[in-house]
Amino acid sequence: MATATAPAPTKPDVQIKYTKCLIDGQWVDAASGKTFETINPATGDVIAQVAEGDAADVDKAVKAARKAFESGPWPKMSGAERGRLMYKLADLIEKNKEELARLETLDNGKPLRDSLNADLPLTVACYRYYAGWADKNHGKTIPVNGPYFCYTRHEPVGVVGQIIPWNFPMLMQAWKWGPALAMGNTVILKPAEQTPLTALYVAQLALEAGYPQGVVNVIPGMGPGPGGAIARHMDIDKVAFTGSTEVGHLIMEAAAKSNLKRVSLELGGKSPNIVFADADMDAAIQGAYFALFFNQGQCCCAGSRLFVEEKIHGQFVEKLIGIAKSRRVGDPFDMKTHQGPQVSREQFDRVMGYIDKGNKEGAKCVTGGGRVGDRGYFIEPTVFDGVRDDMTIAQEEIFGPVLAVLPFKDTDEVVQRANRSMYGLAAAVWTKDIEKAMRISQSVRAGTVWVNCYDVFDAAAPFGGFKMSGVGRELGEYALQHYTEVKTVTMKV
Ligand code: NAP
Ligand code: MG
Repeated sequence: MATATAPAPTKPDVQIKYTKCLIDGQWVDAASGKTFETINPATGDVIAQVAEGDAADVDKAVKAARKAFESGPWPKMSGAERGRLMYKLADLIEKNKEELARLETLDNGKPLRDSLNADLPLTVACYRYYAGWADKNHGKTIPVNGPYFCYTRHEPVGVVGQIIPWNFPMLMQAWKWGPALAMGNTVILKPAEQTPLTALYVAQLALEAGYPQGVVNVIPGMGPGPGGAIARHMDIDKVAFTGSTEVGHLIMEAAAKSNLKRVSLELGGKSPNIVFADADMDAAIQGAYFALFFNQGQCCCAGSRLFVEEKIHGQFVEKLIGIAKSRRVGDPFDMKTHQGPQVSREQFDRVMGYIDKGNKEGAKCVTGGGRVGDRGYFIEPTVFDGVRDDMTIAQEEIFGPVLAVLPFKDTDEVVQRANRSMYGLAAAVWTKDIEKAMRISQSVRAGTVWVNCYDVFDAAAPFGGFKMSGVGRELGEYALQHYTEVKTVTMKV
C-alpha cells in the first residue's frame, strides 16, 4: 500500500516559457507590474512568477477584442476558414502534447498518466469537434405571412469573457474556446490562479496557428481582479464561468448590475451514484472508485454520494476499501502513480476540514482520513461509511478524495434521497434491470446520467447542471447557443 509512504517528487524537466498576459497578440506584463507565484502542489515549491493582471489589463484586452471583432481579418473570415484555424490549433496541441502534459502535471499535481491519457486527448478532440461546427451553424428561411422573405442569421455574440477553474485547466479552456471561436467571437480568458501555465502555452499555439491579433487574450491573476472585471465590464457581451456555486452567484450578480451580459455557469455538484444489488458487482465497485477518486476527487461531477442497496452494502464497502487502499499516492511524474496532491494548500486544508467534520458528525471513516507524507498536499483515499443525508459530508461539495457511502432500501426511497440536494450536475445508476435504469435516469434531476458507467465524456455530448449546478450546457451542439446571436431579417418582395 503506497498510501502510507511519503512521496518523493522528482524534479520535473519542464521549461516555463509563457508567464505574461496575452493582449492584442503581444505578451505583456500586467499594467501594475505585479506578479504572483504559481506553486508545484507536489512539493509546495514556487514554479514561476506569473503576471498578475487586473481590471486595467482586462480593459486593454476588451479594447483589443472589440477591435478584432469589428474590423481586421477575423469578421471577414468564413466559417470554413475559422474551422481550419481551429484544426491547426488542435494539431499544434497534439504535436506538443508531451510538454503540455508535463506542464499540466507540474502546475496542477495530477498524475502525468492522466494528463497524457485523459486531459490531452479530450482537449484535442474538443477543438476538432468545434472546428467541424464552424461552418455548420446557420440560420433558416421562414415562410411568414404576406409578401416577405424572412430568414435568420446566426451571428457571433461579440466579445466574450471566460473564467475557468484549476481542476482540468487545458480542457476547460478547450470547452470555452471551442464553441466561442468556432462561432466567430473574440475572447478574454482568465485562468485559475493555481494553474495559469498551460492556458498561456495554448494561447501561444493559437498565435502560431494564425488567429488574428486580439481574437484570443489571456489575463492571469486573482479571481476578484480580472475575473471580477470581466463579470462587470460594460463592453463584454457574454461571460462563461466554471467554478464554485458561491462565485457563480457573484458572476450573475455582476452581469445583472452591469450590462446584462449573457451568463453561462458550470458549477458544483454532489452527484448521487446509485448501486443496486443486481448490478455487476465488480464493474460497480470499479465504477464507484473511479467516479470519486479520479483527478484526486477534484471533479465537479464526482460521484460523491454513493448509495448502495442495503443487501449488498457490507460486502461492497469491504471490496471498495480494498481498492482504495491499493491506490498509489505519490509523485505525479511517476507513471505508476494513481493519485497526486490536491491542487493547493487551501484545497488541502479544506478537504482535511471535511474529513474532520465527517468524524465529528459520527460517520465512520473506514479507510484513509490522513495526510500522506509531510511535503506537498497529498491526502489518503478516504471512505466514510454509515453516512446520513443530513451530514455535512453528504451535502457539501468536498472536491477531494473523500467518498461518502449511504445505504438504501428501495427505488422510491433512493430517488427521493438522490434529489435531496441543491445540486443537479450528474448521477449514475448501476443495475442489470432496464426498468430500474430507466426509472433512475428519468427521475433524478441532473444534467447527465450515466448507466453502468461513469465519467464518460465526449465533446459531442452536452454537459451542465440542473438546479444550482449551473445555467446552460457546454459541449455538443447545445454549447453553440451561448456564443450565437440570432438575427431575423424580413425583406419585402
Ligand atoms: P472558484 O473561486 O470558484 O474559482 C473558479 C474561477 O473563478 C477561478 O478562475 C477563480 O480565480 C475565479 N474567481 C474567484 N473569485 C472570483 C470573483 N469574485 N469574480 C470572478 N472570478 C472569480 O473556486 P476555488 O476557490 O478555486 O475552489 C473552491 C471550490 O469550488 C472547490 O472546493 C470546489 O468545491 C469548487 N470548484 C468547482 C469546480 C467545477 O469544476 N465546477 C472547479 C473548481 C472548484 P482564482 O483562481 O484566482 O480564485
Ligand atoms: Mg499551480
